[in-house]
Amino acid sequence: MTEFEQRRRAAAEQLAAKKVDALLVSSLANVRYLTGYAGSNGLVLITPSEEHFFTDPRYGSEAAANLSCKVHVCKGELIAAAAGIIRRKKFKKIGFEPAWLRMDRYAQLQDALPAGAALEPVANLIEELRAVKSPDEIAKIRRSVRVNSEAFARTMNRVRPGVREHQIAAELDFQMRMLGAEKTAFDTIVAAGPRSALPHAHPTSHAIGDKELVLIDMGAVVDGYSSDMTRVAHIGTPPRRIRELYKAVSEAQLAAIDSIRAGVPAARVDATARKVLKGFHLDKQFVHSTGHGLGLEIHEAPKIGKKEKMKLQAGMVITVEPGAYVNGFAGIRIEDTVLVTENGCQVITQTPKKLFIL
Ligand code: ZN
Ligand code: ZN
Repeated sequence: MTEFEQRRRAAAEQLAAKKVDALLVSSLANVRYLTGYAGSNGLVLITPSEEHFFTDPRYGSEAAANLSCKVHVCKGELIAAAAGIIRRKKFKKIGFEPAWLRMDRYAQLQDALPAGAALEPVANLIEELRAVKSPDEIAKIRRSVRVNSEAFARTMNRVRPGVREHQIAAELDFQMRMLGAEKTAFDTIVAAGPRSALPHAHPTSHAIGDKELVLIDMGAVVDGYSSDMTRVAHIGTPPRRIRELYKAVSEAQLAAIDSIRAGVPAARVDATARKVLKGFHLDKQFVHSTGHGLGLEIHEAPKIGKKEKMKLQAGMVITVEPGAYVNGFAGIRIEDTVLVTENGCQVITQTPKKLFIL
C-alpha cells in the first residue's frame, strides 16, 4: 500500500465515528495529502469501500497516471460529478469540510442530493491526521529547512547599511528558488528598526540604517512542505536594551523547546514561554501564540497557543517562536522548526541561534 493509500484508509476508518457514509474533501491541502495531487482544482470523495478523485481535463492525464484511486475527469463542475456518485451509492449522510466548501458549491450539492440525504459538517478530520508526520514527510520538511537556512546564510553576507528591506526580501526569495524551493511558504518578512515591533511587517523601501535591528522571518516550500524561521541581526554593536530584549526572548524560546515531548499539552509549551517573558516583564509584549504546526501548509495543527487542547505526539513538526514587541522601539522574535519525539524534541533548524552582528 502506498502512503497515499494508507492515508485514505485512515480517513475512511474514521467515517463511522463521525456518523457519515462518505466525506467530501475540498481543502486542496487535504486533497494533496490524500492523493499527491498538487493542482488547483481537485476534490476527493472518501467512502468506506472506495475513494474517488475529481479534477478537470487540464490535470486529467497526469492524475490518471499518478493516482491510485478512481479518477474522474470532469468537463463541468466537480461537485456535480461527486453528487452523481453520492446519488448512485444512495448515501444518506455526507460529511463535508465546513471551512473549505464554498457556499455556492454547498448549495449546488444540496440541490443535487436525493430526498432523505443530508450534508453534515465534519471539521478537521484530515487536518488531525496531517498533524503527525510520516518519516517521508519529515525528510521533506528537513530539506525545506535546509534550503531556508542556506538562503538566509547566503543573503546575510550581503546585508549592508543602505540596502532596502524589500531588496533583502527579494534576495532571500531568489536564493530560496535557486536552492530548489518551489516558492516561499509566505511573504518574507524583513523589518528594520522600530518596524521590527510589527510582528507581520511587510518589507518597505526603507534603507537599513547604520545601527539598526533587522528582523527576518522566512520560509521555503520544498516538495510541498514548508519551513519557517525567524532570526534578528543588528548593524553594528547592539545597545544594551536590544541585548536584554534578545536575552529574554532567547530564554523563553529555549525554555519552551525544553518543555516539548510527546504527551505534553501544546498549551503548556505556550505557557512555558509566557512565564519566562513574564519574569522579564515582557509578557504583555508577546502578542501572538508560541508556535504552530507546519507541513503542507505553513499554519496547521497543532497550534501552540493558550487554548489548544491537543497534546503533542511524536512526529508532529511545530515552530517555536516567542517574541517581544516594544512599540516604537524594536521587536525580537526567534523561531525554529522543531520535531516532537517520544522523549523530547529535535530542533531541525541548524542556523545559529544568536543575535547576528553585521
Ligand atoms: Zn511561524
Ligand atoms: Zn515565521
